[in-house]
Amino acid sequence: MADCLFCKIIERQIPASIVYEDDRVLAFNDINPQAPTHVLVVPKRHIASLDELSQGDDEIVGEVVRRAAAIAKERGITAGYRTVFNTNRDAGQTVFHIHLHLLGGRSLHWPPG
Ligand code: 5GP
Ligand code: ZN
Repeated sequence: MADCLFCKIIERQIPASIVYEDDRVLAFNDINPQAPTHVLVVPKRHIASLDELSQGDDEIVGEVVRRAAAIAKERGITAGYRTVFNTNRDAGQTVFHIHLHLLGGRSLHWPPG
């Protein structure tokens, strides 16, 4: 999608620190990390938000979630990690291409702010 920041990262029009890539999924470090590990896991196919998901997206969402878990495991983050999809204004979604935040490497507070 033309004006989507994460599509531009996927297409290498904007640089990012990429930590994982396959045909369907890309993972890269968040530019403003909130924890020692703060990785964004995205589908390569543009989907604006969870509100846009259809049944046909079940597989890619599963891949994104499992990839976040695999990255946490690779990094030895066994003490705990958090995975978050922010959706729309009140949750603070700023980039409308779904992305799973993987946060770990420190104690994370609950409930979040
Ligand atoms: P949201 O607020 O939509 O859930 O998350 C968007 C995330 O994208 C934020 O954590 C923000 O720091 C990150 N971000 C925004 N612009 C860039 C960028 O150009 N590169 C990278 N790597 N992350 C970005
Ligand atoms: Zn996009």
